[in-house]
Amino acid sequence: MTTAILSALLEEQSGLVAMLQYPQRRVHAGRVFWTGSLHGRSVVLALSGIGKVAAATTATALIERFGVARIVFTGVAGGVGEGVRVGDVVVAQDYVQHDMDASPLFPRWELPGYARARLACDAALSALLLEAAHACVASAQGQFDLKTANATLQVHHGLMASGDRFVSAAHESDRLRTALREAGHEVLAVEMEGAAVAQVCMDYGVPFAAVRTISDRADDTAHGDFALFVQTVASRYADHMVQSFLEKL
Ligand code: SAH
Repeated sequence: MTTAILSALLEEQSGLVAMLQYPQRRVHAGRVFWTGSLHGRSVVLALSGIGKVAAATTATALIERFGVARIVFTGVAGGVGEGVRVGDVVVAQDYVQHDMDASPLFPRWELPGYARARLACDAALSALLLEAAHACVASAQGQFDLKTANATLQVHHGLMASGDRFVSAAHESDRLRTALREAGHEVLAVEMEGAAVAQVCMDYGVPFAAVRTISDRADDTAHGDFALFVQTVASRYADHMVQSFLEKL
């Protein structure tokens, strides 16, 4: 049973590749896939690419070509929900595509052909990720040197939104949260890939779970906060969480 570990960014993947045992580098569909053993488990490491289509291609290749039994996604995201702050961790319970709009033919956000707006993550895998996230946050507590000092790091579990936009304005983030909330969707964080991978995994019946560390608040300072976070802490979080997840698997 091989587990795919998807990373959104190279900075988050490099630590995992460095720790891989019996590493083999394979190129397929214009992407690099690393197979090997990590913390005693058979894994394939891949970069999702940025945006929904790139991530869907990667997920499809992992399933079709590498026959993975499950996909776990780690990355960074913009905090949208109240109280979701830089340095916090969000484990996805389910996903919505915030830029899906086939209205008036279908209700806003509904995925045509799927009769739903929300794609659930695998409960058992998500529970393991939650444990890993709690362990990671406990050891990272107090180790932050970000301008957005967050004294009490938290782990959240709930709805994540994906779309082909880097959300980098407070008014846009507010609008996104408010519109979704009015339809009963309480979003915690926004990113650009997870919902696409969730949809591919649902099509194939492959269990999927995702965890994102909050790099920015999807507001007017998002770009700078994102860059700083990725350079300084994202990879350490990813290494730590993937290790404790694989050890529990
Ligand atoms: N690699 C480029 C672009 C990164 S795009 C760079 O270095 O600048 C941002 C990535 O982080 C995406 O993979 C997305 O999933 C996630 N992300 C972080 N904050 C986000 C936000 N505010 N809005 C959307 N995606 C965000």
